[in-house]
Amino acid sequence: MANWKCGECGHTKDSRCKPKKCPQCGSSKGFAKAEEACETSE
Ligand SMILES: [Zn+2]
Repeated sequence: MANWKCGECGHTKDSRCKPKKCPQCGSSKGFAKAEEACETSE
């Protein structure tokens, strides 16, 4: 699964496919693929 980050508000979402729109700000073109969520940053 990939991690997607909204370029508008910074909201992140785990989804196999690119989200159609951000559930937080409603942006439909702000998503960019972030790093594959394999590691946790602690
Ligand atoms: Zn957003």
